[in-house]
Amino acid sequence: MSTAAPVELSPELAQRLTGRGRRLQGAIHCLDRHDHYGAEDYSRALAEVAQRPMETLSLYVHIPFCAGRCLYCGCSTTVTHDSERMDSYLDTLDREMAMVAERINGDRDLLQVHLAGGTPNYLSEAQLTRLTEMLERRFHLVPETERSIECDPRRASAGQLELLHALGFRNVGFGVQDLDPDVQRAIGRIQSEELIRDVYWLAREIGFDSIGFDLIYGLPLQTQATFARTIDTVVELAPDRVACFGYARRTIDGPHQHAIDVHELPTSADRDRLFRNAVASFTGAGYAWIGLDSFALETDDLALAQAEGRLHRNCIGYTATPSAHLAGLGAGAIGELRGACVQNEPDLHRWQQTVLAGRIPVNRGHKLSEQDRRRRDAISHLICNLVLPRHLADDCLDDEYRRLAAYAGDGLVEALPDRLRVTEAGRFFLRELCTDHDAYFHWDRARWHFSPPG
Ligand code: SF4
Repeated sequence: MSTAAPVELSPELAQRLTGRGRRLQGAIHCLDRHDHYGAEDYSRALAEVAQRPMETLSLYVHIPFCAGRCLYCGCSTTVTHDSERMDSYLDTLDREMAMVAERINGDRDLLQVHLAGGTPNYLSEAQLTRLTEMLERRFHLVPETERSIECDPRRASAGQLELLHALGFRNVGFGVQDLDPDVQRAIGRIQSEELIRDVYWLAREIGFDSIGFDLIYGLPLQTQATFARTIDTVVELAPDRVACFGYARRTIDGPHQHAIDVHELPTSADRDRLFRNAVASFTGAGYAWIGLDSFALETDDLALAQAEGRLHRNCIGYTATPSAHLAGLGAGAIGELRGACVQNEPDLHRWQQTVLAGRIPVNRGHKLSEQDRRRRDAISHLICNLVLPRHLADDCLDDEYRRLAAYAGDGLVEALPDRLRVTEAGRFFLRELCTDHDAYFHWDRARWHFSPPG
């Protein structure tokens, strides 16, 4: 076990790195570079996947409903208390599943099914059962198919968690964000520490294989002391995985974020310290630091995969078992298929109308060029496995490789004969280092952000 210690930057290096690395996710998922990709392209891609029965397939299912809006939220979701509306959503989702399954050859064994949102566990028990039965009817789920779900602890109950386990879900993630009552009030999401403890121990007793927590740093009224207390509690509970996202204020995507008082937000320097202290606490407690902003117990698959240089990342998150194709289902769902990143129509009504008219509800997509793919693989490998093998940069990324190698003088990377390795100090600037591989960094820089689910 190693404890990652933060480093101080020289003023000159700090200047070089300032403002970089903000929208790295865009370089991986490519959706901010959407072109004229449409339903026909997606249908063709699905048909091509059908011709490749040996390639692995996973599903991402988006449930865009919540009981209330958390003020920091940047997810594609709708606040409703109308259960019939959710039934109607499932009706349409079933139609979409039928269309996709017919084109993609739904007979192959699925590698993973991931439910996110929104709040998937806002569905009633009958609706969760129905959704699982729909998936099983349209696709081929086998005992080995990894079923995971993002849950809001405020909507979880013993009965619901038992049902999810009985339906085959083995990985559950809970949106914890921050346990401090003042911070919770400032973000409009009240969930007591007792509730989190109860839900966590319920999930443990029921026997989920993996329990994850999402935390957010950079929230209003958050201080080093309050966040340290949250992390201490999380460490004491010992979930298998913890994601620690930075709050990204994006009022253009979520006007409700205006309700957060900017004067209560930590400064940029304080945000950095919040994250650095989180890294020190989790790594000191025996967690491996995964990629940019996640942690996993050292015996967890993610930690083992990272140690062996085979960790991957897709639009669901980090994974030790990458899927060749990921099909998104539901309003706003994201997928990656046949070298294209695709997003469904996020507007609920338009998504529904399109599906009911018998058309694939693609809203935007981007077919990766060979150059895009090389960049994405390089960035992804650097983020996940902290090395950039020389062969991944050969030919088209030579300049980027040289620029990255130049950080060896600053102690942020180590130049080895066949690869560049990010140092412990460099990990704190991984996002910035990867920016050298993002050809699109300079345009439309404000467009992309990443928000935690649930
Ligand atoms: S953070 Fe999660 S629970 Fe809160 S509004 Fe957004 S999707 Fe819903």
